[in-house]
Amino acid sequence: MQTSIAALRKKVEAEVMLDTHPEVSLDFKYVQEALQKGYSKPFLLVDSSIVRTKVRRFKAAMPRVHPHYAVKANPDPRVLKTLIEEGVGFEIASIAELDLLLTLGVAPAEIYYSNPMKSRAYLEYAAAKGVEWYVLDSVEELRKIVSVKSDAKMYLRIDTPNIGSDWPLAGKFGTHAAETKEIILEAVKLKADLAGVTFHVGSQCRNPQNWQEGIKRSKRVFADMRHAGLIPRLLNIGGGYPVRHVKPIPSIEVIGEGINAAIADLPADIHVMAEPGRYLVSDAAYFVCRVVGTATRNGKRWMYWDAGMFGGVIEVTEGLRYEIITDRTGHRISWCVAGPTCDSVDILMRDEMLSEDVQEGDFIYIPNAGAYTTAYASNFNGFPLPDVVVI
Ligand SMILES: *Cc1c(COP(=O)(O)O)cnc(C)c1O
Repeated sequence: MQTSIAALRKKVEAEVMLDTHPEVSLDFKYVQEALQKGYSKPFLLVDSSIVRTKVRRFKAAMPRVHPHYAVKANPDPRVLKTLIEEGVGFEIASIAELDLLLTLGVAPAEIYYSNPMKSRAYLEYAAAKGVEWYVLDSVEELRKIVSVKSDAKMYLRIDTPNIGSDWPLAGKFGTHAAETKEIILEAVKLKADLAGVTFHVGSQCRNPQNWQEGIKRSKRVFADMRHAGLIPRLLNIGGGYPVRHVKPIPSIEVIGEGINAAIADLPADIHVMAEPGRYLVSDAAYFVCRVVGTATRNGKRWMYWDAGMFGGVIEVTEGLRYEIITDRTGHRISWCVAGPTCDSVDILMRDEMLSEDVQEGDFIYIPNAGAYTTAYASNFNGFPLPDVVVI
């Protein structure tokens, strides 16, 4: 008993140690101001000045690492414009994302095609538009890219641990040692410009060592590439940089320290980039929705919001925990929280401690919700997409 308490205390202390730097959120007074104009449906209120602050902080923490924003986190054109003004490049998965960026005047050379599985039609389109860099993680994809664009510059996505990530991505993409060797040999055979390595530590990654391990593995692949006669020029350390919700996080400065040390001995001709998504946009926004109604079912209290997993609040279904704020200050009880649709999967939380007197019409405020909310929303069951309001 004694030891388990000591172990628990140690764990809590270690977690608190993670929180070394203050994190900023959108000032709540802007939410109140926005609501004074009325409310018709759920909305995301984004403060672009916080997006700017986050870009600058990211660059200061890792001076050698050029950020390329992952468009999927929040593709709102006003958000993208802010990022362009701050000198950020981009990472895309589809030609709709590509078109969006080209419309905003982004140079194709600043756009990296980081989806390891691309249709031939998408590849042809991206090549015609001037995109230079393409990811791959299989021999088949290497052959596909080369057959469409023989002078494509390519980077290899390798597998890396996702331990300590709230939204792990390992397993779907990333090569292991045996395939890596096979792909390098095939690139040499095809005279293809396989010139870089990338990895993704998993989203909302709270374990800084994952990046260090990814970089260590990348260096081994660089050595194998050189040995085979290829000329590596790009290290892409991916995304995953966490933001503050309920759990403590390592600051970008702490993560950056480990990354800076790990890349210090890379030759100067290796360009180092990253693909932050969540980190650059989450803290800039509040998601606001409303309670449609409440009910008691078999003794359990339920509340239904006008935005559920189809309306933007989807990351909770995979274990991410948001801070949920209401205007009520009563005794907290356990609630089941669900979305407005009739789909039985549309249940957000089954044991959320919220004020017992929450009622129909109450507002729900979710801070730091600028990433992976509106981007995921659909019109399923006839409910409207949330608005995005940018200040
Ligand atoms: C989603 C994604 C990112 C961004 O991840 P975050 O966790 O939001 O930083 C970066 N790179 C690739 C290839 C991705 O798929």
